[in-house]
Amino acid sequence: MFLSRRKLLNYINCTGIAAISTPIFGAMNTNGNTHHLDYFKFSIGNIKITVVSDGGFQLPISSIDINSTEESLKEHLRKYHMPDDHIYMNTNLAVIEVGENKLIIDVGSGSRFIGSTGKLFDNLSKANIDPDSITHVFLTHAHPDHILGIRDDFDETIFPDAKFMISEKEYNWWTKKDRVNEVEETFIQMVLWAQNSLKAIPEISLFTNEKSILPGITAFDTSGHSPGHSSILVESEGSKLIIGGDVFRNTYTSLKNPDFIPDTDMDPVKAKKTRNEILDLLTKEKIAYLGYHFPFPGVGHIIAHEKSYEFIPASIRW
Ligand SMILES: [Zn+2]
Repeated sequence: MFLSRRKLLNYINCTGIAAISTPIFGAMNTNGNTHHLDYFKFSIGNIKITVVSDGGFQLPISSIDINSTEESLKEHLRKYHMPDDHIYMNTNLAVIEVGENKLIIDVGSGSRFIGSTGKLFDNLSKANIDPDSITHVFLTHAHPDHILGIRDDFDETIFPDAKFMISEKEYNWWTKKDRVNEVEETFIQMVLWAQNSLKAIPEISLFTNEKSILPGITAFDTSGHSPGHSSILVESEGSKLIIGGDVFRNTYTSLKNPDFIPDTDMDPVKAKKTRNEILDLLTKEKIAYLGYHFPFPGVGHIIAHEKSYEFIPASIRW
């Protein structure tokens, strides 16, 4: 039996729900609470993937799009029932098992960054992954939430025996001598973080454009968000997944409005072009996607609507 509109209104009035003026997810604000989704395991063909979280952090809403007013961004967030005073960034790291090898994509931000991050090792242990078993580390780019965790609290490099990889363009941009003097003041800390993190890696191999890392695992250029930003294509037995770093920011921002330009996109024109190319590829070829900053675990499919896109998350099975 369906509730009539009048009954529903009565119900709302009785329960006081109508008194809540904030959007429902705002009302459900989980600040101050933590959740217990430690890891998410799935497969692409015969390649096993575990998503582990490094935690998360908040950014101001002005960071969503450099061309929008604060009021229009608030309106956008309310439309999707999200809190309108901040944006929450998950950090979803993938551990990919290929034969005897274990490749991790990015290393999170450790304890030197903002917010509740640095949870990688706790969550690896909950997922039963021994950090010493990681054989390869692929860095999508050198922004702090992806690379700053490279040094632990004792200044030791994590995964010291693994093979590290990053694109040559990315490495060369950040490590250029005098880079720190060439950027705006607000960006200096980012450069120092990137340089200190990259320098801490004993040996790192660089690649250009496209590189096969392990059987079924290919790195490819998705620059724009950063000078040499790269993504990973996982292919096995006819199934495909793209692990796209920061090509997209969040589901209710970058997908609902792919024209939004986050303030962290270093080449806004290139980033937007890349974003649209990846959206085209994902929707036309029906490739699954793992979003670093999507709600955990950030794995699912993206489908196209007329002017926007929608994320259909993989369902968690209990
Ligand atoms: Zn990021």
